[in-house]
Amino acid sequence: GVKEPTDINELADEYLRLSYHGLRAKDKTFNATMETDFDQSLGRVEVVSQEIGRVILNLVNNAFYAVAARKELHEKNKIEEPYQPTVWVSTLHEKGRLIIKVRDNGTGIPQQVKEKIFQPFFTTKPTGHGTGLGLSLSYDIIKAHGGELQVHSVAYSEQSNTQSGTEFVIDIPYLKAD
Ligand code: ADP
Ligand code: MG
Repeated sequence: GVKEPTDINELADEYLRLSYHGLRAKDKTFNATMETDFDQSLGRVEVVSQEIGRVILNLVNNAFYAVAARKELHEKNKIEEPYQPTVWVSTLHEKGRLIIKVRDNGTGIPQQVKEKIFQPFFTTKPTGHGTGLGLSLSYDIIKAHGGELQVHSVAYSEQSNTQSGTEFVIDIPYLKAD
């Protein structure tokens, strides 16, 4: 792909909303909070828009899936403590880097699963719900942008109802466009 001047905040906001409304269209009862914290000083940056958009969409889709799954466990286990599914997206320009974070308070990822999530075709989702290609493709796109895709995760525990969730961090060079 060819790099072009891109408003990352607008792109991230658009895909966050698109993903949420896509889910709501399939399941009217699905409800989640979206929180954004966009660095207003970003300006336009040189990236392959379509590819970075695709990475963001993959990450927010995964995040909504994870909060929906945790919500189900929460109800199945009749946990008293309230649970509000939430997805956070933020951007930051820092020390020549552009950081995009996608965080959720969903199921989290168990350690033995975490080692495999960037492998092509790896999925824990039932047939028809995932191809297992999202993160492997995302990883390649971020690498091609000279960056890193990192994951931080705490897995859900049925016994203790521990705080759980996942944060993906996109870290690419900040290339100012205009
Ligand atoms: P897919 O979504 O098709 O399963 P991905 O490559 O996007 O494929 O993700 C691979 C696996 O990583 C998922 O099946 C899931 O087990 C795990 N995963 C990814 N993102 C999250 C997340 N936000 N929370 C919990 N698990 C996740
Ligand atoms: Mg996915």
